[in-house]
Amino acid sequence: MSSKHVLVINCGSSSLKYALYAIGDATPLQTGLAEELNSPNARHISKDLSGNRQSFDTPNASHGDSIQAIVDALNCEFNLSDSLIAVGHRVVHGGERFNKATLIDDSVLAEIKQCIQLAPLHNPANITGIELLQKQFPEVPQVAVFDTAFHQTMPEHAYRYAIPSEFYTKYGVRRYGFHGTSHQYVASSTAQHIGKPIENCSFITAHLGNGASVCAIENGKSVDTSMGMTPLEGLVMGTRSGDVDPGLIGFLGSQGYDCARIDKILNKQSGLLGLSGISNDCRTLEEQASKGNKEAQLALKVFCYRLAKYIAGMRIALTQCDGLIFTGGIGENSVFIRKETVALLKGLGFTIDEELNRDITDNVCAIQSTVSLPIFVSRTDEERLIAEQSAALCS
Ligand code: AMP
Repeated sequence: MSSKHVLVINCGSSSLKYALYAIGDATPLQTGLAEELNSPNARHISKDLSGNRQSFDTPNASHGDSIQAIVDALNCEFNLSDSLIAVGHRVVHGGERFNKATLIDDSVLAEIKQCIQLAPLHNPANITGIELLQKQFPEVPQVAVFDTAFHQTMPEHAYRYAIPSEFYTKYGVRRYGFHGTSHQYVASSTAQHIGKPIENCSFITAHLGNGASVCAIENGKSVDTSMGMTPLEGLVMGTRSGDVDPGLIGFLGSQGYDCARIDKILNKQSGLLGLSGISNDCRTLEEQASKGNKEAQLALKVFCYRLAKYIAGMRIALTQCDGLIFTGGIGENSVFIRKETVALLKGLGFTIDEELNRDITDNVCAIQSTVSLPIFVSRTDEERLIAEQSAALCS
């Protein structure tokens, strides 16, 4: 096979996603996921171009074991040693240093390591992935695509916290924002769909998955977003609280909770899971809510209310608005969440067409009523954008 390939690696704290692309093809040759790494339940699931799935248990596999297994299998099938022209890595935090996809050399890697203090759960896993792939393919360029990079265009009044300036200058305490690759991808594909150059488009994008954030995009650039210094700020998420009164931290401290415990409560035990006491999974909660479960109903109501409030807030960051875009696992699939959220946004000029809202068949679909500002459901594809940016840097 003479095709050239780009491999995309997305290491999470306990998971790993990958996708292999032939240059010029939008659809990956193979995608895969390793879950619950470093635990007895670790497993590996892969899917090829024809949709064939393979799943096997890999008890206690580490990120390293998993990457090695993936590379060995791909090498066998696609002869990567000869065909690979780039590896693209999703890196969660690039601090203020990185505003675009960047070729990784020793100094770039050192700066990614410096950002560990800002993203202690995520950057170490990203670095593990980079170092392993560097070792495996020393001749192949590695590219870092940062979750924070797209938001580096935010103006200072949007990214500064109203706390003493020394915390910004000394420690870099400011709002950075995340999910940048996804916000950028759906804004571009929706611009293409409406036939307008992205440089002239302004959107409010809502990436709603297990993590969730909203972004105000003016003329193709991020001007505000709901996540902050860490991915905890903003919307209600699967297990993250989103905004709470900062006074809560001191209060819990005074009740004997230490930092690690507070961090765990707000990041892993809150959000939809904390409110419902049932699940962090939107589908499960919708099912339970439809059967009359009050906690599930409340969790979904808080989710939609906070989301609508943030979308309304983002509108003031834009001088004009070409539309509201829903994406992510919930944004793309939940008829209920879109309907309930848009119902709260009537005052902003958004109303939904219920039939269109139920009938999402294309990568970009308009779902507004005839009297509404545009509302879109756009499928995100972070891996594809990472592959494109990596290939562009290395070709
Ligand atoms: P992500 O993190 O983007 O993979 O999104 C995961 C979230 O999407 C979970 O909360 C899922 O329950 C939710 N989700 C996926 N499919 C659906 C669906 N058909 N209806 C409602 N939520 C869904």
